[in-house]
Amino acid sequence: MSKKVIIGNWKMNPSTSKEGDAWFKKIAKLVVKIKKTEVVICPPFLYLEKLSKIRTSKLKLGAQDSFWGDVGPFTGEISSDMLYNSGVRFVILGHSERRALGETNELINKKIKSSLTSGLVPVVCIGEKERDVEHNYFDIVKSQLVDCLKGISRDSISRIIFAYEPVWSISTTENRRDATSSDTREMVMFMRKVLSDISSPQVAHNVRIIYGGSVSGRDAEDFLKNGQVDGLLVGKASLEPKRFFEIIEICEAKV
Ligand code: PEP
Repeated sequence: MSKKVIIGNWKMNPSTSKEGDAWFKKIAKLVVKIKKTEVVICPPFLYLEKLSKIRTSKLKLGAQDSFWGDVGPFTGEISSDMLYNSGVRFVILGHSERRALGETNELINKKIKSSLTSGLVPVVCIGEKERDVEHNYFDIVKSQLVDCLKGISRDSISRIIFAYEPVWSISTTENRRDATSSDTREMVMFMRKVLSDISSPQVAHNVRIIYGGSVSGRDAEDFLKNGQVDGLLVGKASLEPKRFFEIIEICEAKV
C-alpha cells in the first residue's frame, strides 16, 4: 500500500527565494516526526535547485509543470530530466490554471510520458469547471482521463497520482463553492471505474487519487475519511507552514 500524500502547491508564491527558504525550513522542522504521510512541496521552478539542498527524506520536492522534450530549441521550457537531476521527484501536470492558459489533454499526455521516463511521479490534475444539471461533468472527467492516458502502460499508470480538483471549488475561482466529501467520494469511485477500463481493476484499485480544492484544517479529515481519497493537494493553505502542517497532522492521525 502506498502512503497517503499531502502536496503543497505554492503556485507563483512567495516573491523572494529567501522567504521560500524560510517556509520550507519551517515545514521541514515540523514534519520530522511524520512517518505515515508522504509530504511534497511544489514551489516555483526558480526555487527548486536551492530547496533541493535542504530537502529531507520527510519533505520532498515537486515542480508545478514540466516540458515533454529532452533538450533542444524550446525557449523558456524546463525538461523532466532537468527536474529529476535537480532532486525533484514529483511534478504537477494539467493543473486547471495551466489548462486555462491553453494546455490541452494531448499536451498533458506528452508531458506525463516524458515525466514517467525521467523517473518523476506525475500528479495529474483532473476536474470539471462546473456541475451542470445534465451531469455532463462525468463525461468531461472521463475524457480528461482517457485522453491524458493514451498510450501509457498499466505499469506506468500505477505510478501516477491523480488529483481530482473540481475547478469550481478552488479557492481562487470566482463565486467558488465548497465541494463536499460525498461529491468527492462519488467522483473518485467514477474515476476508479474509468481507470479500471483503461488499465486493470487492480491498478485502478491501488492507484492514488487525491482531492484538491480549498482544503483546510477544518475539512481535511472529512475529505480523507468520507471522501475516500489517498491524500490532498493544497494551494492557499500551503502558503502558511503552520496551517499546512495542521493538514499533515490530520492525515498522519487518520491513516
Ligand atoms: C489548487 O489550485 O490546486 C488548489 C488546491 O488550490 P486551493 O487549495 O487554494 O483551492
